[in-house]
Amino acid sequence: MGFEIVDELVSAAAAAGIALDKHQQRQLRAYFELLQERGPNANLTAVRGWERVRDELFVRSLRIQVGLRGVPHDARMIDIGTGAGIPGIVLKIAFPSLAVTLVDSTLKKIEIVAEIVKILGLDNVELVHARAEELGRELDHREAYDIAVARAVGPLAELAELMLPLTKIGGRAVSLKAVGIELELAAAAFAASELGATEAEVIKVDAPGNSAGDCVVVWRKVSPTPERYPRRPGVPHKRPLRAPRPARPPSGASAPAGRETL
Ligand code: SAH
Repeated sequence: MGFEIVDELVSAAAAAGIALDKHQQRQLRAYFELLQERGPNANLTAVRGWERVRDELFVRSLRIQVGLRGVPHDARMIDIGTGAGIPGIVLKIAFPSLAVTLVDSTLKKIEIVAEIVKILGLDNVELVHARAEELGRELDHREAYDIAVARAVGPLAELAELMLPLTKIGGRAVSLKAVGIELELAAAAFAASELGATEAEVIKVDAPGNSAGDCVVVWRKVSPTPERYPRRPGVPHKRPLRAPRPARPPSGASAPAGRETL
């Protein structure tokens, strides 16, 4: 690989406020090679070729950094539905002092990612084969993370129930989305508040090759998640939390004055 190609990654990272040293550049390059080698095996990633991996996986993952500003450098972070390690491994390479947990419900993916983490020599990374709904009920994980991150796992209303039970009070749940999420965001407002978060902060960021850009969605956790959440595995996906409908007027109630009804 020519150095000009590395430089594009370095300058994209610099634009996001992240300085990548030579060691980190080599790690990202090695990660790319491992993804190309092992990616097709377990449907790990369909993204092929350095330029696409750099832009679609690495640079976009690094953009999440805008949602992490002010977080302690040794924060505990969980990547929910990590797949091939996106964004968790990229963020771990960029911010090596983070303590990172990577969780996915597909065993094969976790096995391959475990191998990748080992080859890359990343320390303080825990691999967990589980559903986020199960982990959210375990003492060691519930409300244990300063940061929960996710990309391409589900709509925000579902994500809220996967991420917020794992997020500490005072911590943040940060997800990466393509722009055009207004309806999805509105549909998730009830879930976020029910699970203990403030209203979402949405930060627009550049995305290489996509002039519209991406959104980094940040929920700050301010109160405990009620005991009944997360619901059973699969339920947040099938029936995302929604505001209860306003109660119907009791039958026999008279119609508003001045309007005739049948
Ligand atoms: N974050 C990666 C992978 C996205 S694909 C990326 O951006 O490339 C979604 C991944 O989430 C899949 O690997 C799937 O196995 C996992 N997943 C879906 N629902 C999950 C859940 N409830 N708990 C844990 N992992 C889940």
